[in-house]
Amino acid sequence: MTFNEFMDKVAARNSHEPEFMQAVKEVIETVWDVYEATPRYQQYNILERIVEPERVIQFAVPWMDDEGKVHVNRGYRVQFNSAIGPYKGGIRFHPSVNLSVMKFLGFEQTFKNSLTTLPMGGGKGGADFDARGRSDGEIMRFCHSFMAELYRHIGPNTDVPAGDIGVGRREIGYMFGYYKKLVNEFTGVFTGKGFEWGGSRIRPEATGFGVVYFTEEMLKVQGDSFKGKRVAISGFGNVAWGAVQKINELGGKVVTISGPDGYILDEDGISGEKVDYMTVLRASNNDRVKDYADKYPSAKFFPGKRPWEVPVDIAIPCATQNELNEEDAQNLINNKIMCLTEAANMPCTPKAIEMIQNAKILFAPGKAANAGGVATSGLEMTQNSNRLSWPAEKVNQELHAIMKGIHEACRTHGTQPDGYINYVKGANVAGFVKVANAMCDMGLI
Ligand code: GLU
Repeated sequence: MTFNEFMDKVAARNSHEPEFMQAVKEVIETVWDVYEATPRYQQYNILERIVEPERVIQFAVPWMDDEGKVHVNRGYRVQFNSAIGPYKGGIRFHPSVNLSVMKFLGFEQTFKNSLTTLPMGGGKGGADFDARGRSDGEIMRFCHSFMAELYRHIGPNTDVPAGDIGVGRREIGYMFGYYKKLVNEFTGVFTGKGFEWGGSRIRPEATGFGVVYFTEEMLKVQGDSFKGKRVAISGFGNVAWGAVQKINELGGKVVTISGPDGYILDEDGISGEKVDYMTVLRASNNDRVKDYADKYPSAKFFPGKRPWEVPVDIAIPCATQNELNEEDAQNLINNKIMCLTEAANMPCTPKAIEMIQNAKILFAPGKAANAGGVATSGLEMTQNSNRLSWPAEKVNQELHAIMKGIHEACRTHGTQPDGYINYVKGANVAGFVKVANAMCDMGLI
């Protein structure tokens, strides 16, 4: 079978799922030579099996708003692969959630979790719920209704959800609390919990910290660092917030953040109390970044635009899938950026990645660069199993070591004959081999 024949076969089953097909193509094309060189993978039909989720759960989530009106949303949990550990991955509440998005995220999560070196399989869940403008009571009722179905499918040794877009500490609190009540057990069934009830130190910052640790390693290979670098960031959520903090700490200057309404450019740098203000913006439930420019006169707001037109040294998309396209990549190339790090899941279109790599610009795929979030979730699971709570320094140290290890794995599997490191290939091969080997070892289950 050729690569194209394989992709045609996958497309015949999933052609109506564009995000999932995009993620599959990117992984399979980079592991194809490993597959061809490993008879065992062919014997066990690993590729066809690895693109098939082990279980997909879809359910109705009925809830009542503050006016007494009844709504219904679609809830999902895709339990993608459990070859190396219990299903693990976040829950996303966003109107763009559908089965294709859930499957692409669960598929990516499988390889990301494998890269962390911790024993976690891949999963993802969510609902097409729009939290914008919703009251706290409405969010709570929604989370409870969501959990009234999901609780029977998860467990600390089965499937451990966490946060993602639209799901933070508050939502996890409502879901975890409801699970605890239904099952009558206090277990580590969720990660991203509050510190007072089993959460890990550093988990809120972990994805952003990890992204910056990974980028620092890439720069180090080139004999460079964050010192004095201008950085463009998109989004203003949890990932962006963690990344901004760590970039400031390492001597870089973040000049942009963005929202669905446009982006802000702050030539003075986003530091000090402005970083704390990002959490206020997020808590307002408005999904609007313009308020930042109203509050800080040093900032300019560009409605309806993306920050990739701003001249910077490093670009870090932290928002959502396919937020950086061909045109944006061309702007970044024209502005001679040295590094593009994906902090969101699949934020760059395939064409944008190809352009950046052809220009020999450093490029880090999300499944490697943003793995610090789920890695720290893995550390939270360890603490919960041990009924212990580690100090922040210990968690941070472990996280830093894991990110360095992921970088090294990418370097080992992705270095090209001309010395350019293809981090996409490196991450995919390193993540894939471990899962594929485990699947072969366990036979046809
Ligand atoms: N949603 C995050 C991700 O995309 C974190 C998942 C987790 O902590 O389980 O990796």
